[in-house]
Amino acid sequence: MQEILATNKLSIEKSHAGRRGVRFEKPQFSPDKYVPAKYLRKSVDRLPEMTEQDTVRHFTNLSRQNYCLDSHFYPLGSCTMKYNPKAYDRLSALDGFANAHPFAPEEAVQGTLEILYNLQELLKEITGLSAFTLQPAAGAHGELTGILTARAYFDAKKDKKRTEVIVPDTAHGTNPATSNMAGYKVINIHSGPDGRVDLNALQNALSERTAVVMLTVPNTVGLFEKDIRQIADMVHKAGALLYMDGANFNALIGVAKSADFGVDIMHLNLHKTFAAPHGGGGPGSGPVGAAAHVAPYLPKPLVEKLPNGTFTVRGKMPKSLGKMKSFYGNIAVCLRGYAYLRQFDGKTLKEIAENAVLNANYMRVLLKEAFPAFFDTVCMHECVLTIQKDKMNGVHTTDVAKRLLDYGFYAPTIYFPLIVPEAIMIEPTETENRDALEAFAKALCVIFDEAQKEPQLVKDAPHNQPVCRIDEVGAAREPNLHW
Ligand SMILES: *Cc1c(COP(=O)(O)O)cnc(C)c1O
Repeated sequence: MQEILATNKLSIEKSHAGRRGVRFEKPQFSPDKYVPAKYLRKSVDRLPEMTEQDTVRHFTNLSRQNYCLDSHFYPLGSCTMKYNPKAYDRLSALDGFANAHPFAPEEAVQGTLEILYNLQELLKEITGLSAFTLQPAAGAHGELTGILTARAYFDAKKDKKRTEVIVPDTAHGTNPATSNMAGYKVINIHSGPDGRVDLNALQNALSERTAVVMLTVPNTVGLFEKDIRQIADMVHKAGALLYMDGANFNALIGVAKSADFGVDIMHLNLHKTFAAPHGGGGPGSGPVGAAAHVAPYLPKPLVEKLPNGTFTVRGKMPKSLGKMKSFYGNIAVCLRGYAYLRQFDGKTLKEIAENAVLNANYMRVLLKEAFPAFFDTVCMHECVLTIQKDKMNGVHTTDVAKRLLDYGFYAPTIYFPLIVPEAIMIEPTETENRDALEAFAKALCVIFDEAQKEPQLVKDAPHNQPVCRIDEVGAAREPNLHW
């Protein structure tokens, strides 16, 4: 079938000498009138020759192989793949925003600066922190910004012996990576039997060498660190700072303020919690907030409001760690986050978090018999399930994930977090309705039945995808890196 439809062919393989889309007259002028002759190509090598219709079909069909939120439910855990209102895309593409030159004088972009300022204020309000920078271009970039802010803070105090960052094993993988990249020694601590930070392990790891303790809240097993106040006290007593990875803030927005937990620095992911599109390599935004004692060390500039009501990025920040990104951040993403926050009042924001948590728990309960939660307790915005080895006839999580594709669902995050064996991590988000959740759970239950009755069917999946089961061993031993 695939051969007949030729959907997998590259455009160069579909090329046929002499086929053309639009035909142009030979130019009446010599091209070197516009481009110096030395830069002109002598010949065009191996471009596909196709008609316009074949080209349009080629790319349209390729685009239909994309699995995306606009077409399907996207249950990827740890990613908050929620619906992004199209109106925000229109808004951020408005001429005055999209075509503003980064070197435009401040007087000419007061509107944009006002929005950025207001967004900083809104993020302060929902987290209780004292200042926010919008510069970081993603969550991981926010983490790096946060850790470097902490370093600037300790440097200013001439506290040079703090060379370690403590990271629990329930942290997002970017947390240890970030700390390492910033030059810190990463001290891993194991979590307790309930999937939360083991306070004894933390106490033993804390010392005068600790710069920062990095907590993902809620953590990657979807649980809230209920001892966070006590954790913050322990961290502060040791003279260290508490960093909160707030990429999972969808579970907390409108419900709890990080500053109330004792958080010193945190990042948010506008492209997760604040309805900006996410993934596919597009731009992100990971604003970093800080409590008052750390705020002066944030990257500069922040957008400030002057007494005369105008906005500026020329404020002095003598203690700032410097710049983390050119200009002021990914403004198109900030605009979407701003629109999102302006659209809802505090009560509705709270409902967003509550529904995200409700949906994850509904999913957890629907799947209780087939794929039980590893930590059998109420979860936050995502649930981390596992497989029942004795019932699965050798079917593994990877097989289940591939079989889901046959039923038209994107696979959830699997084998992460590492502390859960055969992990299946599902984050439904608040924007999915009950029908979507039930359909997805149904597919997983059917796969569970298949594992009992016809396990080979699951082990060989997927069966109806453009690319079916890949020979992973062969791919590792004899990698064919050419088309
Ligand atoms: C997604 C995520 C990150 C990293 O964010 P990016 O924008 O992908 O760099 C960090 N921590 C947590 C908990 C996340 O879910």
